[in-house]
Amino acid sequence: MTPRLYQGVEGVKDVSSATSLVAPGLAFETWDTSDPKLREECGVVAIHGHPDAARQAYLGLYALQHRGQESAGIATADGAHLANIKGMGLVSEIFTDDVLAKLPGHMAIGHTRYSTTGDSALLNAQPIRVDSVKGLIAIAHNGNLVNLGNLRTSLERDGAYFQTTSDSEIIVQLIAHSRASSLVDAIADSLSKVEGAFSIVMMTRDRIFAARDPRGFRPLSMGRIKNPAGPDTIVFASESCAFDLLRAEYERDVLPGELVMVTEDGVTSRQYASGVPQSSCIFEHVYFARPDSRIFGRWVQESRDQMGRQLARESGVPADVIVPVPDSGVTAALGYAEQAGIPFRLGLIRNHYVGRTFIEPEQRVRDFGVRLKLNPVRNLLEGKRVILIDDSIIRGTTSRKIVRMVRGAGAKEVHLRISCPPTVSPCFYGVDTPSKRDLIAANKSIEEIRQFIEADSLAYLSLDGLLKACDGGEHNGYCTACYTGNYPTEWVDVEEILPAAATL
Ligand code: SF4
Repeated sequence: MTPRLYQGVEGVKDVSSATSLVAPGLAFETWDTSDPKLREECGVVAIHGHPDAARQAYLGLYALQHRGQESAGIATADGAHLANIKGMGLVSEIFTDDVLAKLPGHMAIGHTRYSTTGDSALLNAQPIRVDSVKGLIAIAHNGNLVNLGNLRTSLERDGAYFQTTSDSEIIVQLIAHSRASSLVDAIADSLSKVEGAFSIVMMTRDRIFAARDPRGFRPLSMGRIKNPAGPDTIVFASESCAFDLLRAEYERDVLPGELVMVTEDGVTSRQYASGVPQSSCIFEHVYFARPDSRIFGRWVQESRDQMGRQLARESGVPADVIVPVPDSGVTAALGYAEQAGIPFRLGLIRNHYVGRTFIEPEQRVRDFGVRLKLNPVRNLLEGKRVILIDDSIIRGTTSRKIVRMVRGAGAKEVHLRISCPPTVSPCFYGVDTPSKRDLIAANKSIEEIRQFIEADSLAYLSLDGLLKACDGGEHNGYCTACYTGNYPTEWVDVEEILPAAATL
């Protein structure tokens, strides 16, 4: 059992009563089984006007669990009080019935997060609750601010005292220090000062706010649960897949640069920033978002299907079967197979129950970590020319293990196709990417990568092909910086964008 820590209104406490029991003679070690792919930082949800808002937020977070699995939190308000509970672990592990019962109120915001491990992980879990001169505010956000250092320094000069290293607290401190007289003006004023990616939900004792940064990096949608007997419940979520579980109807996306306020009197909105070109994260369509979500005005399933089809048009090769690297490669592989007229087969099976800690075998088995997660279906691969479809190559080591696994299962040829361009630059907008020196495509040619991963051929989707596959959304301005190195904001960490050769 994973030890769990809670931070509630009373502070931090360890509520884990479990001890690890290990049979004598067996080594017990933490083996990193985390997905070697790029990781999203967060998912957010907000509920206004529901008698059991905490449970609605819980369901919303449950549907957004893919956006972060390391901590989660829910804050609720009943018009007079504001409660907040957060903990380390999965949403279902933290929010048992007993815990949800401690969160009364008709309003809630929630957050689920992938974070780096360490002592600060719980402290920086969200929502963050701050008692400011503008009243009690709870805030949760998805994304990453890039002018953080400067803002923090100038706020500290103005007397701000920070409890966490979280970006969210900077926003709250800006609100607290704003000279604007009303809260909504202070929020708009503060949001216009921060640079970077943020989709935010905020709550006071009696109001919910939702906002997206002016470039619209991260998704945020608004939905409605119809209530024939009274006012509708208004919901916000990082992805529309959360609405299905809540039985809410998708209404619209929160616009880039828009601040929406929900009170008992209804929904109002203002554009706090405009005139900035949109740059929504195209990697949400490639990998992060669920295929059953509609983001940036477009179904993710449709985008991935088109990526697969385009990939087949650009770099088809004679083969017997198309095999996705599960789970994220599946939709693109279906599109590829249909376009190429080659059978689609689930030739790799993913074990969904791999935890983070397990008992090490006596002798280290080659490529053990990947074998835990994926297993080949030998009778589908033996003697076949296989096209493997995946959505990214980050360091290259995992791709090499998968290629070896498929070949080891008897495949005659293994061709790898990637449903996006080579990842050549790190992200500063809320995605946990390695530095440029660790990104294989930033330091090797495609032919060198092919040799490294030991594939018979390797091809990536072109940037034009990717943009075409994701075309037709709310605006069609995408951030593609991890494929191009062209960042839409001025603030980037120079150290992080040095290639390996420059850092030797
Ligand atoms: S750099 Fe890549 S991952 Fe980051 S926001 Fe831009 S497209 Fe998305």
